[in-house]
Amino acid sequence: MNNIIILMYHSIDASNSVISLSAEIFATHLQYLKEHNFQVVPLATALDLLHKGTCQGTEVVLTFDDGFENFYTTAYPLLASFQMPALVFLVADYCGQDNYWPGQNQAIPRMPLLNWSMIKELTKLGIEFGAHSCSHPDLTKLTRQAVKEEILNSRKTIQEHTGKQVDYFAYPYGASNSATQEIVAKEFQAGLGTFLAPTQRSDNRANLSRVDAYYLKDCFSLLGTPMLSPYLKARNLARRIRQQFIK
Ligand SMILES: [Zn+2]
Repeated sequence: MNNIIILMYHSIDASNSVISLSAEIFATHLQYLKEHNFQVVPLATALDLLHKGTCQGTEVVLTFDDGFENFYTTAYPLLASFQMPALVFLVADYCGQDNYWPGQNQAIPRMPLLNWSMIKELTKLGIEFGAHSCSHPDLTKLTRQAVKEEILNSRKTIQEHTGKQVDYFAYPYGASNSATQEIVAKEFQAGLGTFLAPTQRSDNRANLSRVDAYYLKDCFSLLGTPMLSPYLKARNLARRIRQQFIK
């Protein structure tokens, strides 16, 4: 099976919002991965195996969008106890503030984000950081110049604070088009979207599929089974229909 699973989490908290999973559920995910012999690896390792055609189909990458403070207080201690790596995508101009950037859905709770001293400490502990823009706009609605600034300035800010190279970009709202993907393809090792599917070797490197763990919260045991892909296809379809009505 030549694919990897890139899981996407947001906030680990008890609010039950659409971007939240409780610490208890998150811990059951990690326990499941450990008990069923999945290899939780850095994204670079997983992509390398994928492109060499040598992955086992058991490689999993854990990603966290928006950089919530509860990554530091709740998610990281659990990850450390399981010795699992993670990649956290930061909204560079909002670090140390909260997630109420312009356009934020008011149904989402206002929650604090990681500050730079937490980010520095986590970097020393082996957590990798990626860029998720400066101010979390829908990049497909901006001018080419504004898109460039959101993508490149966020990378620069994160690199300056962590002293590490930033290799990956995650599109806010998963929204990208050929113009944004072209910039990301040129500047990063890979771009990450939100199309719900296992990541294939044939995926566009500038828009890798990712599985929102929210959709697996009650059925995480589908991971590694042939039922996962049909289930995600059905969820993708339902999500597209729902988005048409929302627009
Ligand atoms: Zn986001």
